[in-house]
Amino acid sequence: MAAASLTVSSVSSPAPGLRDSYGRLIHDLRVSITDRCNYKCVYCRTGEMGAQYPELAIDEYLRLIKLFVSLGITKVRLTGGEPLLRRGIVDLVREIARLRTCGGATLDIALTTNGHLLDGLAGPLKAAGLNRVTVSMDAVDAAVFERITRVEGSFAAVLAGVRAARAAGLTPLKINCVLLRGFNDDQIEGFARFAREENVVVRFIEFMPLEEGRLWSPEIVVPLREIVERIGRVLPLVELPARDASETARRYTFSDGLGEIGIIAPVTQAFCGACSRVRLTSDGKIRTCLFSQIEHDLYGRMRAGESDDELRAYIISTVQSKEARHHIGEPGFLKPSRSMVHIGG
Ligand code: SAM
Repeated sequence: MAAASLTVSSVSSPAPGLRDSYGRLIHDLRVSITDRCNYKCVYCRTGEMGAQYPELAIDEYLRLIKLFVSLGITKVRLTGGEPLLRRGIVDLVREIARLRTCGGATLDIALTTNGHLLDGLAGPLKAAGLNRVTVSMDAVDAAVFERITRVEGSFAAVLAGVRAARAAGLTPLKINCVLLRGFNDDQIEGFARFAREENVVVRFIEFMPLEEGRLWSPEIVVPLREIVERIGRVLPLVELPARDASETARRYTFSDGLGEIGIIAPVTQAFCGACSRVRLTSDGKIRTCLFSQIEHDLYGRMRAGESDDELRAYIISTVQSKEARHHIGEPGFLKPSRSMVHIGG
């Protein structure tokens, strides 16, 4: 897609705010721009399944994003699959950033990536208007890391990406680590040191039943309480106050004030009541919850020729159907039809 064709008209009027039927303000849009990934993380993918869903053209994502922004979305996070595999991502970020000058003034643009290609792209993405990046890293030991990603040389590439992102000013730089008992829970203390040495915010995430295979069990989840206790034994932690009601991470600094750790505990301390998110899959379906059993085909309506006003009305009514909460660990819990890599994490 040529950059020249990626132009957008203005976001018509200041955003009124998008609320679900429980009164939650929905201001955070996650957009998957591919479900392809260059890693095969053992807890995420079986290693046998490739991409499962079609991708939209970059200017089609742009049109849909623009509709959401006109309805009150103030944060757009690009994800995947691996979003940096997608040609045209720099142009897409540049055009999303243009929405700031036409109605979406406070629009925050973020990216979640495995970091493998970030060394070469951090500078262009920052120049295009990206605010922040979150890099997924599940170990600080190179051998453990490469056992998880199943890609040789991945640790060095990601570390270079992390440093390039910091040098480019894509800050605060967050590192997300999914912890699994028996896989990488021996990395917890090393990550605490890494946060301080690399001046990054490390966030541990509880493993959710969203994998392609069948690995999840309550026993494999490393709960928030245990993470805090283990780090606290090596480096005393002090809890930080939440910055806003929809913050998903419990935040901690160390007793000397240097460095930050976050813990995202969707399993043992669910935060659904404060959820502000809605997701768009790489094939243009709206998902109102990671664990939704149904998807809403926004792109299908766009392809059928619906006007922006009709598509906006569809988004508003879809958001109304957002689930109250997830049911992980409860009897009768059903995994969604797509796994994390195909939804967009
Ligand atoms: N490729 C990008 C990346 O690595 O960040 C974006 C997509 S990836 C699916 C997004 C995030 O979801 C990663 O941090 C990954 O570790 C996390 N993730 C994948 N499966 C998960 C699961 N079952 N539970 C919790 N997080 C998961």
